Amino acid sequence: SGKFFVGGNWKCNGTKESISKLVSDLNSAKLEPDVDVVVAPPFVYVDLVKNSLTDRIEISAQNSWIGKGGAFTGEIRLKPTFSFLARDFIKHFCLYVSLTISHNVEQLTDIGCKWVILGHSERRHVIGEDDQFIGKKAAYALSQGLGVIACIDAVPSWDNVVIAYEPVWAIGTGKVATPQQAQEVHVAVRDWLKKNVSAEVASKTRIIYGGSVNGGNCAELAKQEDIDGFLVGGASLKGPEFATIVNSVT
Ligand code: 13P
Repeated sequence: SGKFFVGGNWKCNGTKESISKLVSDLNSAKLEPDVDVVVAPPFVYVDLVKNSLTDRIEISAQNSWIGKGGAFTGEIRLKPTFSFLARDFIKHFCLYVSLTISHNVEQLTDIGCKWVILGHSERRHVIGEDDQFIGKKAAYALSQGLGVIACIDAVPSWDNVVIAYEPVWAIGTGKVATPQQAQEVHVAVRDWLKKNVSAEVASKTRIIYGGSVNGGNCAELAKQEDIDGFLVGGASLKGPEFATIVNSVT
């Protein structure tokens, strides 16, 4: 359901040198046209990546602040025009919330980010963000013209939402979920959407898998009916391998 989506979460990795190499590998990689491809560099390199990466690949932030800018050392201000708050999801899944470029120049849009990752388990478990804090980030996004949405049927559009299922035991461990395990959870997420939102949203929202995806295991996973793409960590730091994952679309 929906266009295959592959995100590369570079996490807190890279130097100017290694990132320039990664960008040049991605620029020369042959990517299947019918796949949405997004990469999330560390903030300090977003500008470098934006200025050197092909427009074929969109850029995501790895985090955003809960409100307007100001005296918040180390935080990043955004001006989203769309987001949503769904507490049940926020508890269990990592959310990708698409941002639409707006006329108000805020930091993320100013540097060309179209996406932001919210609710990654590393931000919860390592940094200590809790549901409430993640909820505030989403709520702030909602407050930018849309108001706070505490019940998901008020979401104005699901077109730009991608849900990533990332079992924590599979992240960075080399222990990938079996295609059957992932498929089972993706079906459960889709059922949740069906019951709580609508059948239409359930069928068109992309549910992607993350956790030790690599060039060797992506093809089997991609064959599963409810796996609509991937969120890749370690393997997204290698351009040719990331391209293999993008091209595993079936
Ligand atoms: P790995 O692919 O390194 O397991 O990381 C997955 C992930 O957390 C992507 O956000």
